[in-house]
Amino acid sequence: MDTPTTRLAPSPTGAMHLGNARTFLINWAIARGQGHRLLLRIEDLDGPRVKEGASEQAIEDLRWLGIDWEGGPLYQRSDLAPYRDALARLKQQGLVYPCTCTRSEVVAVQSAPHGDDHELRYPGTCRPGAGVSGTGGGGARGIGGGGGGGGVALATDAAAWRVVVPDEVVQFTDQLCGPQRVDVQQQVGDFVVATKAGLPAYQLAVVVDDARQGVTEVIRGDDLIRSTGRQLWLYRMLDLTPVPQYIHVPLVLGPDGRRLAKRHGDTKLATYRQQGVRSERVIGLIARWCGVVDHNEPMGASEFLNGFALTGLPRGPVTFTQKDHAWLLQG
Ligand code: GLU
Repeated sequence: MDTPTTRLAPSPTGAMHLGNARTFLINWAIARGQGHRLLLRIEDLDGPRVKEGASEQAIEDLRWLGIDWEGGPLYQRSDLAPYRDALARLKQQGLVYPCTCTRSEVVAVQSAPHGDDHELRYPGTCRPGAGVSGTGGGGARGIGGGGGGGGVALATDAAAWRVVVPDEVVQFTDQLCGPQRVDVQQQVGDFVVATKAGLPAYQLAVVVDDARQGVTEVIRGDDLIRSTGRQLWLYRMLDLTPVPQYIHVPLVLGPDGRRLAKRHGDTKLATYRQQGVRSERVIGLIARWCGVVDHNEPMGASEFLNGFALTGLPRGPVTFTQKDHAWLLQG
């Protein structure tokens, strides 16, 4: 039996805000409440977007909230070999092909695609046998060629690698959102697993890491539920286990109904901390957002943990308002 294991997987592409904090606290409370092993993984593959000092800041923010973990941090950047090996296996099986298309989506795939990110469906331009050639170069390479290669990069010749996604619906049952059916081919088409820059795309990295770290429960924001179909394909293609259970939690929105972000003002934990706000206030607000209490009330992490129940979590998004902001600043 696999030890029930879950993970916190911050991306150091920006500072942690109240919405991220809520997801991590929920993740931690489920892990602690159900006796899971909890790992920390820093998803720092997105070179250009990774911010200097953001990993250290994320760790500090988690600790400030009273969140603890057993293993890690594992920094994805520290060793690319596991991703390179996975890509080599996909190549050997003829399940990936090089793509030279210059599309913004090819560039963006190193990050997890969150709700507001615009995801295009790839029409299969470079797919072998598609009858349409790519936008230049690389035409002679067949799928399955190349192997893992040496060096650090996954792709070295200005081609990204895409998986051949079958025309089939993937089904899974989310522990919170219920049964899901995803037609990945319809949704995004053959998706990128390694970028032109030679780095693993988010979809590949997350699957390789969750599998090698023995993650059995993935708990994250519901804007990533769209990605789960892609990830389940990769589990199947790479024959990886354990295939995790998923819990996708509704997000915190700003007053305009969009995912909480910079545009809603500075809701960074670090900023509140600098302004003298105590972590008990932040947790107290999150506790209301999680149905632990029905009004904002300062509390510590252990109190939050005692009161938390997945069944009590509101099924819809919660909204961060100016009143909440003002309440936090009261201390
Ligand atoms: N690192 C990802 C993010 O911050 C989360 C990935 C995941 O939980 O699968 O968006």
